Amino acid sequence: MEFLDPELGKYAAAHSSKANPVLEELERETWAKVLMPRMLSGHMQGRFLSMMAKMMNAERILEIGTYTGYSAICLAESLGPEGHLHTIDINEELEPIIMRFFEKAGVYEKISFHIGNALQIVPELQETWDLVFIDADKQNYSNYFDLVIDSLRPGGCILADNVLWSGKVLDANPDEETKALMDYSRKVQNDDRVENILLPIRDGLMLCRKND
Ligand code: SAH
Ligand code: CA
Repeated sequence: MEFLDPELGKYAAAHSSKANPVLEELERETWAKVLMPRMLSGHMQGRFLSMMAKMMNAERILEIGTYTGYSAICLAESLGPEGHLHTIDINEELEPIIMRFFEKAGVYEKISFHIGNALQIVPELQETWDLVFIDADKQNYSNYFDLVIDSLRPGGCILADNVLWSGKVLDANPDEETKALMDYSRKVQNDDRVENILLPIRDGLMLCRKND
């Protein structure tokens, strides 16, 4: 479901900075060769993630759900010389394309790619996060929030993707994934430790900022 009139979407894209051409190549290759290419963030969301990381001067970023690495590259390109991104995916088959494109985009040195279940890997990472991007299995969004909130610095942010879930969050009889996303938004809304705004960008991005 497109929330925005397609012509207005094109207008918005035409007035947003262009991405590194390597990202367009990754998008084409993902559509040609990988299952479920719709999961890739794409131009507008990619620019938003990149801008967020840059505005926050983020040095320590965690991404949960790498897929083919599009959003990881967008986040990593905003890191300063000391900055680092940790990104996690459970699907080991994605590793060759991810690594090839991290190299091509010139961000290979700035990224640690972890293969495995994020529920196990996140607690093993001893970092204080500036920014966390949650974009893996929808059923675990609330668990991921609980796993990272204490290691998020005051003023740090958590972004969670797909919180509008093609509009299914308004269904009278939501399925399990939809219910999990609704639970996530309700949880964040009721948590006094964060300030939050649900941005209707693409499929919905929930932005939370941890209070100082
Ligand atoms: N962030 C990417 C898209 C991620 S798609 C982008 O914007 O381009 C969601 C990814 O989450 C898939 O690649 C899937 O393999 C991964 N995933 C699902 N469950 C997971 C889990 N428990 N731990 C880690 N990754 C998981
Ligand atoms: Ca997503």
